[in-house]
Amino acid sequence: MKKKWMGLLLVCLLACTGCSGQVSGQENTSEMTVQAEESQEEQEEKEAVSATRDVFAMDTYMTLTAYGVNAEEAVAQAEERIGQLDAMLSTGNAESEVSILNRDGSGNLSPDAFYLLEQSLDIYQRTGGVFNPAIYPLMEAWGFPTKEFKVPERETIEQCLSKLDVGQIVCDSSTGHVDFETEGMKIDFGGIAKGYTSSQIIDIFKENGIESGIINLGGNVQTLGTKEDGSLWRVAIQNPDENMDYLGVLETSDRAVITSGGYERYFEEDGVIYHHILDPATGYPAENGLTSVTIVSDNGLLADGLSTSLFVMGLEKAETFWRDNSGEFDAILLTEDNELYVTEGIAESFSTSYDMHIIER
Ligand code: ADP
Ligand code: MG
Repeated sequence: MKKKWMGLLLVCLLACTGCSGQVSGQENTSEMTVQAEESQEEQEEKEAVSATRDVFAMDTYMTLTAYGVNAEEAVAQAEERIGQLDAMLSTGNAESEVSILNRDGSGNLSPDAFYLLEQSLDIYQRTGGVFNPAIYPLMEAWGFPTKEFKVPERETIEQCLSKLDVGQIVCDSSTGHVDFETEGMKIDFGGIAKGYTSSQIIDIFKENGIESGIINLGGNVQTLGTKEDGSLWRVAIQNPDENMDYLGVLETSDRAVITSGGYERYFEEDGVIYHHILDPATGYPAENGLTSVTIVSDNGLLADGLSTSLFVMGLEKAETFWRDNSGEFDAILLTEDNELYVTEGIAESFSTSYDMHIIER
């Protein structure tokens, strides 16, 4: 089992160059003249004020950076929101709404969790079931939640596969009530929670008047506006091979840049690597030829859901899916033969030392 922070570091180096990590400001004194106060305000407006906060939540190191006069308040509110969402959604916390629903097979979800359920069912529909929020019994069978990894017996896989029918999830949007009609069914928002969280943080930043900021949730990035000097954010994409240079650098603004790869969480048994993105068609870790998928979209939740989904689909289906939905996202895909594919919409903003194949509409 391994979590790599190289991507996080790279992103920080590239994207946050110049962050002070502190809030700068002036102190008021009682002797200050009106004239002095005015000039202080003027100065405050002119001066770059930034705040950076490191948070560990959702089993991930997160860094939040905001630029603007309310930067400190914005990152403080964002941290609180992360705590709320983690407490609500974590399958590792027996008291979370999701855990209680999974334990009882029935229960009420708060608007946030209910929204995630609806959105994940929507992504299920759109991806032909490749993304499946009812994946949790399989995750448990493989030992990912407890980190007690094991390759499950064939029979166990079969049993888990019989709990994947999301048609058995009955939801009432007027009350937030959810019933699982299949015994032992369990849901998991691990494939979309971080993307939803980063979008929520961007909303909090905006509510606080922040026009420039960057959030890094364990290598999953979302940017607000441009850098303070008006230039684009530069987001480095991690290479699944930690001995290699990053895949490239994307110049972007107002986008989530979210990556899924089998190298993020995995275990090894008898020389075989088993990772945490499961193929609902087989019950096994997805092995469809891709080693990394990055999705670029203004919608963090969608970017997260699709990074998981396109990883499961493999190159050919991912290309078709993109062509059918190219208005909503762009993608960077790496195959196990080390071929790099980039969709047309971001080809010009992505610099790489790879020979890149451009996927055209
Ligand atoms: P990470 O969260 O590690 O950045 P992903 O966004 O790809 O990576 O999400 C992987 C998580 O999604 C798994 O840990 C699990 O909780 C969940 N998951 C795994 N396979 C699927 C799937 N086929 N559909 C939906 N969720 C999945
Ligand atoms: Mg995902």
